[in-house]
Amino acid sequence: MSILDFKEIPMPHKGGGEQDKFELFARDFFEQIGYEIHSTPGRGADGGKDLILIETRKGIASNTEVRWLVSCKHKAHSGASVLKTDEPEISDSLRAHNCTGFIGFYSTLPSSGLVAKVESIQGIEHQFFDSSKIEQALLTNTKCLDLAKRYFPESFKNWADENPKPAQIFSDHEPFKCHLCDSVLDFDNRGIVTSWSKYEESDDGLIKKIRNQYVCCGGDCDRILSKRYFTDGYVDAWAELRDYFTPTLYLKAVMAFCNELNDPKIQYSEEAFDQEKSILIKAYPYVCRNLTQSEVENVRDLAMLPQFLGGLG
Ligand SMILES: [Zn+2]
Repeated sequence: MSILDFKEIPMPHKGGGEQDKFELFARDFFEQIGYEIHSTPGRGADGGKDLILIETRKGIASNTEVRWLVSCKHKAHSGASVLKTDEPEISDSLRAHNCTGFIGFYSTLPSSGLVAKVESIQGIEHQFFDSSKIEQALLTNTKCLDLAKRYFPESFKNWADENPKPAQIFSDHEPFKCHLCDSVLDFDNRGIVTSWSKYEESDDGLIKKIRNQYVCCGGDCDRILSKRYFTDGYVDAWAELRDYFTPTLYLKAVMAFCNELNDPKIQYSEEAFDQEKSILIKAYPYVCRNLTQSEVENVRDLAMLPQFLGGLG
C-alpha cells in the first residue's frame, strides 16, 4: 500500500495559484537528489518543455554533461496511467532542447505502450519515476524527507507518527551501539539495557550498589557479556532499549533515576552513574521533536549540557 497520497498535490490546469505545483515538486525533487536544474517550469503551455536537468558525470580526463528532459504528468486524481498519446512529441522535444535523456515523472504509472515507445527511440537514455519510485526515494533519503513533509503534509504526518525517527537535537548525535559487537541499535532491533548490582550490608541496613550498565543486542551478545560481568556477587537486571524510546516510559526512567539518586540505600558507582546519564542523553532525541530554527541558533551542541563529562562513550 502506498504511503504518500499524490492527490495532496492539486490537479494541474485547474487555475488558481497552484496549477504548477506538481512541476515545482519535480524541480525540488530532482534538485534534492543531485541534478542541476537548467530551466524551471514556467506557467502555461510551454511546448512540452516541463523541466531540463543537467547531470554531470565525472570522468578521468574530463566530465561529461547529460541533458535530461523531464516530462511531468500528474494524473493521480483520476488514477489513469500515462499513455502514448499523452506524450506525443518526445523525440521532437528532445531535439528541440538538445537533450539526450528523457525522464517521465508521473504521479501514476506509464502505460506499457508508452514505455515501449520511449524504449524504441534510438540514441537516448530514459528513466521513469512513477509514484512508488518517487515515494521510495522520498522516504528512504533523509535529504528528501523535508520535501515529503512539504508536499504531502497529511500522509507524511501519518507515516511519521508510525515511523518515528530520532529528532535533530544534537549536531553530534551518536546512535546506540552494542557494548560487545558494535552493531547500531535502533527502533527496529531488540537492544536491551543491562544493569549490574548487588546488595551489601552496611550500618544503615542493606544498600543496593549499582556497578555498571550497558546497552547490547539481546541474545548471543547479552549471554557473552553476562558471563564477563557475572562476578563479585553482582547480578543483572535488564530493560528493553525501546522502552527508552517511548516518551512516557522515558520520563519514567528519568524519574526512577532521580529517585534512586535521592535514596540513601542506593549507590551508583561513578561508572554506572555516567552510563545512566549517557543512556538518557542518547535516548532523548527519540522521544523529542526537532528544534526550530531559532532554537538551533541558541543551542549549539552537546558541550552546552552542564556537567556532561567525557562524551557519550
Ligand atoms: Zn551485539
